[in-house]
Amino acid sequence: MSAADLADFRADVRAWCRAHIPSDWRAAQTGATDAEFVAFQQAWFQELRGAGYAVPHWPAEWGGGMSVAQQTVLYRELAAHDAPRLVLAFVAIHHAAATLLAAGTDAQRERHLPAILDGEIWVQGFSEPDAGSDLAALRTTARRQGDAYVVNGQKVWASGAAHADQCLLLARTDPAAPKRRGISYLLMDMRSPGVEVRPIRQATGESHFCEIFLDDVVIPAGNLVGPEHDGWRVAQETLGTERGMTMLELAERLGNGGFRWLVEACARPGRDGTAPLDDSRVRDRLAELETEVTGLRALCADLVANDAPGPADASIVKLYYSELLQRMTDFGAQIAGPAAHTVLRKPLSSGWESGAWVLDFVGSWEWTIPGGTSEIQRSIIGERGLGLPREPKAV
Ligand SMILES: Cc1cc2nc3c(=O)[nH]c(=O)nc-3n(C[C@H](O)[C@H](O)[C@H](O)COP(=O)(O)OP(=O)(O)OC[C@H]3O[C@@H](n4cnc5c(N)ncnc54)[C@H](O)[C@@H]3O)c2cc1C
Repeated sequence: MSAADLADFRADVRAWCRAHIPSDWRAAQTGATDAEFVAFQQAWFQELRGAGYAVPHWPAEWGGGMSVAQQTVLYRELAAHDAPRLVLAFVAIHHAAATLLAAGTDAQRERHLPAILDGEIWVQGFSEPDAGSDLAALRTTARRQGDAYVVNGQKVWASGAAHADQCLLLARTDPAAPKRRGISYLLMDMRSPGVEVRPIRQATGESHFCEIFLDDVVIPAGNLVGPEHDGWRVAQETLGTERGMTMLELAERLGNGGFRWLVEACARPGRDGTAPLDDSRVRDRLAELETEVTGLRALCADLVANDAPGPADASIVKLYYSELLQRMTDFGAQIAGPAAHTVLRKPLSSGWESGAWVLDFVGSWEWTIPGGTSEIQRSIIGERGLGLPREPKAV
């Protein structure tokens, strides 16, 4: 696409944003019930879909087909116009779609990709009480019986499970095999008999994630993704997307939402008439953060544009994003002062970026955990990226 075409595209997106982003959504989503949140998210997804903006990263044949340059422009404009985020559809449009496109069958793609566009919600059922960083230690079993698997076990920290229609499930199909080789990747209908979802209430009062209990759940063998016992390899597609592809949008939000608000907060005069920006140390810190955000955005665009990324590239981006988010929201909390500590509620549908700095700082710590903690990303970068000696295994 030429520079002129890209400029036209930007103008179109800007015009669309001005006409379609509800100006009052933050107020309406603050204190909203779960049902209101879901209804709002579903409606916003369809609004974006109508414009061709819901799944820009998907292949054209499935309703996407935007270049990385176009996606960057789209995410930048949505962030700059303070659009709600697709929090509810996140796993469906990223993790599930990428996995199905890379490893699913035609029948699985035809069944689920159009359904996702119609609003099917997905959850990732990987972690278990004793299998987080050491995911391959998972104990949920899937026993083959005729043309189905019978699944028993427990999943935990499943984001959005309370609203999900479908689950990306890892289960052990060969207990005798070395632990990474005996795992299979299954698609599970969350309404199957034997599936029980229990929301986990967090200290903040929200229930972002859930436990999922599985008691003799029958999953048709046609829902197996990739070969039987080869689920570990398929799971790397899901995790690679979580650590990489999703970051393009998030980095643009950080640059055009978070950083812009930070500058605005620094420019706002206090009671004595001076603004934090009058202090050269604040200006220096903003300059450092802007340099970091610019670097992050370039890293993300490079990663997404690269057809053959290095084995640790997605880990570098995920680690950098999540730790920069912490540094930036920490600085925001310092600038905002004691008053920021009294804000107790933030709008749903905003993702982390509520502009309530203390809440956003607390929330930023979430990002260094899912998809592999920062320690795990550092090990991947060291071992796979730099070729350093492998971490010794516990005996
Ligand atoms: C906000 C959020 C959303 C999530 N959503 C989902 C979801 O939708 N689906 C899902 O399946 N899971 C989800 N998770 C779970 C997440 O994937 C796990 O929490 C994560 O993998 C860490 O596992 P754990 O909590 O068991 O911690 P542990 O693995 O017990 O780790 C505890 C600490 O030990 C460190 N550690 C462990 N092993 C090593 C090692 N080898 N080297 C160095 N340090 C190590 C870790 O870095 C960490 O600091 C989510 C988590 C969060 C916070």
